Amino acid sequence: MRNTGPKCRNCRREGTKLFLKGAKCFTSKCAFDRRPFAPGVHGPSQTRPRVTAFGTQLREKQKAKRIYGLLERQFSNYVMEASSSQGNTGEHLRQLLETRLDNVIYRLGLAESRAAARQLVSHGHVLVNGHKLDIASYHVEVDNVITFDKEAQGLIAKRSEAIAKANRPAWLDYDAKALTGRVLSKPVSKDMETSFDVTPIIEYYSR
Ligand code: SF4
Repeated sequence: MRNTGPKCRNCRREGTKLFLKGAKCFTSKCAFDRRPFAPGVHGPSQTRPRVTAFGTQLREKQKAKRIYGLLERQFSNYVMEASSSQGNTGEHLRQLLETRLDNVIYRLGLAESRAAARQLVSHGHVLVNGHKLDIASYHVEVDNVITFDKEAQGLIAKRSEAIAKANRPAWLDYDAKALTGRVLSKPVSKDMETSFDVTPIIEYYSR
């Protein structure tokens, strides 16, 4: 089952901000800033145990899963797919995660969080090359054009100021007049999520 519990618990569990709640993460309401210790009754008194190599591998894997909002099975499938591809496994894994349609909507700056982006997709508001596509795990390809139905266009228009300020990676383009996103190239390391380390994750699954 997908983790649908309070998102802020994930940050507190991982001991770092994972930015799962959009604008709230940058305000004084951030739960991690207010209570930077593990959730639960023993959280405040808990000392973080000595970190073993396995512990690091596990934590990085959990962090990545939580950032992208994925189940263990989905995540491990990505690792298997990346491992069976030619070339750098870590780079392939990052690309598989980054090119998910829900992540692309988020990275275009059109949704506050990956969870909100996933909702836009799964509720059928997103079109890829003119066809409605409600599969959040769909992998976009170079030259894919992403547009939105009327309802989503209304939502996007309401956030136009925030969208104008969004920090988009170089592999994605957004035309604010046409409310259209475009995939310009494959993502490369410097443009991808950097808040987890991919090497221990690969090691975790190679045990
Ligand atoms: Fe994490 Fe954002 Fe919640 Fe802060 S507000 S704990 S960064 S999800």
